[in-house]
Amino acid sequence: MAEQTDTESRKLLRRLRDTLAEDTAGQARLDHIVELIATSMQTEVCSIYLFRDAETLELCATEGLKAEAVHQTRMKLGEGLVGRAARDGTVVNEADAPSARGFRYMPETGEEVYSSFCGVPITRLGDKLGVLVVQSREARAFSDDEVYALEVVAMVLAEMTELGAFVGEGEALKARHTNPMMFRGGIGQEGVAEGHVWLHEPRVVVTNPIADDPEAETERLREAVDALRVSVDDMLKSVSDDPVDKDQREVLEAYRMFASSRSWLKRMEEDIAAGLSAEAAVEKEQSAARTRLGQSSDPYLRERLQDLDDLSNRLLRILTGQGRDTGAGMPENPILVARNIGPAELLDYGRGELKGIVLEQGSVGSHAAIVARAWAIPLIVHAGDRITAEALNGDHIMVDGDQGIVHLRPDDTVVSAFRDKIAMQAQAQKRYAGIRDLPAESKDGIRVSMLMNAGLIAELPSLNDSGAEGVGLFRTELQFLARNTVPRRSELAGIYSRVLDAAGGKKVVFRTLDIGSDKVLPYMKRDDEPNPALGWRAIRVGLDKVGVMRMQLQALIRAANGRPLSVMFPFVAQFDEFRAARQHLLDEVERERKLGHVLPEKVEIGAMLETPSLAFAPRQFFEMADFISIGGNDLKQFFFAADRENERVRRRYDTLNVSFLSFIEQIARRCDETGTPVSFCGEDAGRPIEAMCFAAMGLRHLSMRPASVGPVKHLIRRVDLGEARDVIDRARGSGVQSVRGDVMEWLRGLS
Ligand code: PEP
Ligand code: MG
Repeated sequence: MAEQTDTESRKLLRRLRDTLAEDTAGQARLDHIVELIATSMQTEVCSIYLFRDAETLELCATEGLKAEAVHQTRMKLGEGLVGRAARDGTVVNEADAPSARGFRYMPETGEEVYSSFCGVPITRLGDKLGVLVVQSREARAFSDDEVYALEVVAMVLAEMTELGAFVGEGEALKARHTNPMMFRGGIGQEGVAEGHVWLHEPRVVVTNPIADDPEAETERLREAVDALRVSVDDMLKSVSDDPVDKDQREVLEAYRMFASSRSWLKRMEEDIAAGLSAEAAVEKEQSAARTRLGQSSDPYLRERLQDLDDLSNRLLRILTGQGRDTGAGMPENPILVARNIGPAELLDYGRGELKGIVLEQGSVGSHAAIVARAWAIPLIVHAGDRITAEALNGDHIMVDGDQGIVHLRPDDTVVSAFRDKIAMQAQAQKRYAGIRDLPAESKDGIRVSMLMNAGLIAELPSLNDSGAEGVGLFRTELQFLARNTVPRRSELAGIYSRVLDAAGGKKVVFRTLDIGSDKVLPYMKRDDEPNPALGWRAIRVGLDKVGVMRMQLQALIRAANGRPLSVMFPFVAQFDEFRAARQHLLDEVERERKLGHVLPEKVEIGAMLETPSLAFAPRQFFEMADFISIGGNDLKQFFFAADRENERVRRRYDTLNVSFLSFIEQIARRCDETGTPVSFCGEDAGRPIEAMCFAAMGLRHLSMRPASVGPVKHLIRRVDLGEARDVIDRARGSGVQSVRGDVMEWLRGLS
């Protein structure tokens, strides 16, 4: 680019920055800015159009067009040349605008005398903010240098908009991040919560988009890029050559390629030469990449652009020194807002810290969702891709986990309706507390035992509060996930012993380590499995690498210390696996006996039925198992061949689907034949209608999150299960796909 333009561009940027120091605000500042740009670019017209709402652009300031058109002229996204530049996120450069495709004449502006038009989108990290337009009488296309200079200016305007530089008292321009917004997502966990936003990954804020000393900025940028390269190389060194680490290597190789890319660095250096700070230069290129990401459907290109986005974030963090820990304190009643989060990262927050969770991605079946459920806080998944960009730390937020709705910066009417709802829920809780010590006994005298699921010691107090009769599933992986190394036997024994102490004599069923699939231990090499949910997980890992399993079994025996012990093995697909795992436990008991340790008073060994194959195991399996627990989350995904983490397919199949209910009935019958106690411990056991139907199909033990015990018990006490069964049977006979409609109608008819 010509030196002349560089200097002119830098001069203009400096003048723009000076407007920030002036005593003008809002509209006056915008008016001054369009005047500065028109003079510097030697064009007759300069206008700034900003979004009024997601679909409408408004002329907010102009030099050259009629002043009375300001805040009057509006166009829809895609309408006219301005709307086209905004919609496509690309520059529209026309020498003869009136004859260009899509041109729309706005008579109130008096623009008919101008021939040439150049509109440059004002975007910030893929966020569309408006369009910067220059026009002139002379019919000429703007040169590449001129367009580039406008892009740099647009970038600065985007940063200024983000910083609220155009917001003035009582004026038409509203500050960003102040509007009330509503987001709809999927229900990960019911419940309502009011609190303040806490971003899992706060955005890096660039407060200095313009810099005076290009040499110094270039130097800063080069140093930061060097530091970035070193960190990528370090990451690469820590990944082995093992084929199992192939995916990770590939991503890091792509990072290294970008980090060493001359053209990436060159573009950013050009941006700096034009007057931007190093941070703004990184953001400008990142914005361009995000725009391309939004337009591309090629999966390979999208992945690479995602890599570049991630790398740009790392570079910005190096430049600004803003890490994940920005030094900001967590607000009161924090509600976590994140693109996505894994179970280990979520556990880092600790129970009791968060009041709710909102994820742009995530899924109902994931283990992060299970942690949220264990904590009994509302969780919304798939809340769209805007909330992390819109929300600011500390914003007022209300989460309605019953409806899957999030209100960000709600207005007064929403707040009062929401608070009414919270009060109603508190009343329902009182009702449930009233039946806490009564049995879950149906009108026709069938008793169903209510058990709870847990995975943390901190959840044990719920055993008494909820009225659960014991712990039907204690997931032991959370202690493994929350650490960087395998926990020691003594440490685990201590934890399990405290769990039994806290249960105060009520039964606790410990499930041995269930890792694999989405539960990846940071210290275990991730296998390069094309389909981890069907891969090397749970008991398959336990039986192949017996060291960890035996250590855990020893810890359990020691924790029991003379008390009864119940252990179940996850993900058993065939009889032999159960037989082998059971033998390991018996061997460990024998070993402990020889060592002279106190043995459990009684040992019960069960299996989780999570794969359809086990339902068809030989009778001897049912005879050998002391109990069986149906892991409905996994069983359902394999029964319907629908990934529990994939919202799109998961929702297609209703738990009350006739095939699934008939399958549950068949399992209950097989267990009945051998007198094997059977429970259901998947998430569906905590949904009142589903739980009631399971009871009607013959299940007598249900294990669920503690908050569900009250609602499930309340429904079971209201119904005649024999009648429920008749309703289900009639529905099944009628050829419906799911019995839900018939069951709901029957329930509505009950007094
Ligand atoms: C299940 O699959 O239903 C279950 C209880 O196990 P998890 O959700 O931990 O896989
Ligand atoms: Mg499971």
